[in-house]
Amino acid sequence: AKGKGKNTFERFHPDLNQRAQKRMTLETNLRKALDRGELTLHYQPQVSLRDGRLVGLEALLRWRHPELGLVSPAEFIPVAEESGLIVPIGRWVVHTACRQVAAWRDAGLGDVHVCVNLSPRQARDPHMLHDTVMALREAGMRPQQLELEITETVLMENVHANVELLHRLQREGIRLSIDDFGTGYSSMAYLKRFPIDQVKIDRTFVRDIPGDGDDEAITTAIIAMAHSLGLTVVAEGVETEAQLRFLREAGCDTMQGYYFAEPRPADAIAVLLRERLAE
Ligand code: C2E
Ligand code: CA
Ligand code: CA
Ligand code: CA
Repeated sequence: AKGKGKNTFERFHPDLNQRAQKRMTLETNLRKALDRGELTLHYQPQVSLRDGRLVGLEALLRWRHPELGLVSPAEFIPVAEESGLIVPIGRWVVHTACRQVAAWRDAGLGDVHVCVNLSPRQARDPHMLHDTVMALREAGMRPQQLELEITETVLMENVHANVELLHRLQREGIRLSIDDFGTGYSSMAYLKRFPIDQVKIDRTFVRDIPGDGDDEAITTAIIAMAHSLGLTVVAEGVETEAQLRFLREAGCDTMQGYYFAEPRPADAIAVLLRERLAE
């Protein structure tokens, strides 16, 4: 009768079971991915809306498993987060991104600004600050060249601890931005308490502009509010010329999206950096 419970579960929840199994497979494989060199970073340009110049790069994880193929971050980041694997993986991301910035600089491609995503678990990791500072030192980077992106939801989960953490990061000279801005709950009062430099307008607002009156109003309001607090604004997910025009008109500072470039491997980015030098 004991075994029957499981069978009943499997019979009535095949999806759930399949999902649980897939998750376990992902976790087992992800555990080995770092050591096996299956993780890489791609970089997506951020471009000034004033003059079209490349002003920064966002580092985005890619995982190519020999059998599972290319696994999307949307699938494996949550697994990494829940299992705690995001801590060693996140440390690897910061070190790799900083080393890459140093490699581009040493290749004569100039100094570039790099953005790295910080997960909730990493924000709570007591070694994160020290690890990050070490990565900067090893790479010989100015701390201002590194920007950490934290989502609005993560910031609001633990306001007190995060205000403290962000101040410590700021004292190191590291730049900070709020990712997916507008999707979570945040009040202006809280926003003021965080020492942030930049907000990133979530791409769900960018998708339907121009045209959707609500999204136009929200986008315009975020830009005005951010500017009044002395912050710069990046729009995510810009795919069309019309979106670009609207955002430029609204005074948005920077854009990121397929319209300019999708995330690319480091060698493809080197080509863009060389072009930038020639401008
Ligand atoms: P995110 O931080 O919001 O990153 C932006 C996502 O939007 C990326 O998806 C990027 O490829 C995609 N994107 C960029 N431009 C466009 C566009 O014009 N249109 C559309 N439809 N999409 C665009 P990606 O690379 O699949 O990453 C998904 C999420 O995974 C990221 O969202 C981030 O939350 C997480 N992630 C990726 N790399 C890391 C990492 O190194 N550490 C952590 N903690 N999270 C990461
Ligand atoms: Ca991001
Ligand atoms: Ca985002
Ligand atoms: Ca909409």
